[in-house]
Amino acid sequence: MGINKQQKRADTGAELHLFARKLFPICRSITGNGIRETVSLIGERIPLKIFELPTGTQVLDWTVPKEWNIRDAYIKTPEGKRVVDFQKCNLHVLNYSVPIHAKMPLSELKPHLFTIPENPDWIPYRTSYYKENWGFCLTHNQMLGLKEEEYEVCVDSSLENGQLTYAECFLPGKSTEEVLISCHVCHPSLANDNLSGLSVATFLAQLLSGRELRYSYRFLFIPGTIGTIAWLAKNRETCKRIRHGLVLTCIGDRGFFHYKKSRQEIAEVDRVVEHVLKHTDPSATILPFSPYGYDERQYCSPGFNLPVGCLMRSVWGTFPEYHTSADNLEFLDPNSLAESLVVCASVIEVLEKNQRYINLAPFGEPQLGRRGLYPLTGGTAPELELNARLWTLNLSDGHHSLLDIAERSGLPFDRVHAAADLLLRNGLLAPVDTSNS
Ligand SMILES: [Zn+2]
Repeated sequence: MGINKQQKRADTGAELHLFARKLFPICRSITGNGIRETVSLIGERIPLKIFELPTGTQVLDWTVPKEWNIRDAYIKTPEGKRVVDFQKCNLHVLNYSVPIHAKMPLSELKPHLFTIPENPDWIPYRTSYYKENWGFCLTHNQMLGLKEEEYEVCVDSSLENGQLTYAECFLPGKSTEEVLISCHVCHPSLANDNLSGLSVATFLAQLLSGRELRYSYRFLFIPGTIGTIAWLAKNRETCKRIRHGLVLTCIGDRGFFHYKKSRQEIAEVDRVVEHVLKHTDPSATILPFSPYGYDERQYCSPGFNLPVGCLMRSVWGTFPEYHTSADNLEFLDPNSLAESLVVCASVIEVLEKNQRYINLAPFGEPQLGRRGLYPLTGGTAPELELNARLWTLNLSDGHHSLLDIAERSGLPFDRVHAAADLLLRNGLLAPVDTSNS
């Protein structure tokens, strides 16, 4: 990588990290003001349309829950000292806790406390969306410090009829066929799980906006599971236009890339991501589809069966920091964020350019030298260039796409595309009409 490219990537990484830093303190959940604040900050960067669905709305097999908001929460000693304080870290409260204000002995409080004994200085992230409960998450060491005395326990929250909020950024392209990029926005102060995906998605939308695009792009910033289910319920017609899709999550840590295939497993997006990763991160791992994970679960439910895969670095649940206070801004690496953005942009580049051509001189090899198309030694990589031109000519029979050619030849897509472009300009190839493919 050249020094300029390296500098540019460092700048992008710093900017991505700064954006995540701005969003980090907000106490988000699957409903409530945390999501509103979050999408309004995203909306400062990209055109965003905000949707709200009222509590009680039936969405597929689910119902939009009550809206949750929180102002404060604490556990106080008899001396009035806050030993657990929501103001210091929003993970301290069990997300979706119902309000409570009471005095109780430690024995009564204990069933409502959650810790991680294996990592005694980390606060766990816990939720109770669909069962009314209250609770606190704290470090194990904090809990060991609690004496047998009476505590004042307060969760100043509300769980009332309200709205489920999500946001969409739609970028129209030449075709009405769509590419869907989805990320969840429902986690409180967690960096890699939540903020990495939404930061990269925001910057990706920024990169694409104003560009001339083949596909239309729909970015969803949405609460996990219930938000996606609500969106699917309301967008049956849109779903029919989705040709490719990606869920972005956990893409800001220092781990290698992982891509979980869509349920279809041989969808174009599955092949494109695999191809891009093969040429960018030799340690990347391709995972088969499984019906557990992030919102690809909903997009890939059998009734929809959309071609939507999930791009991650470290896989959720496999790194110890997952769903704990250690998934913080230090865990989020600017360079990894920038690299993830580059991978996403490359995937889109391939999707945009993956077309079929037909060789107009298919009987014998056309004489490349006569046309100045035989790469001479001394160029950057003459053998590779020649190889790309010969493969592209040979397989451009109207059936093979440029991705097919890249896969079969082992050459990176951009090299094959560059060859096709050159051959096209020299009258040796013609595009196959893909306007309705
Ligand atoms: Zn999570």
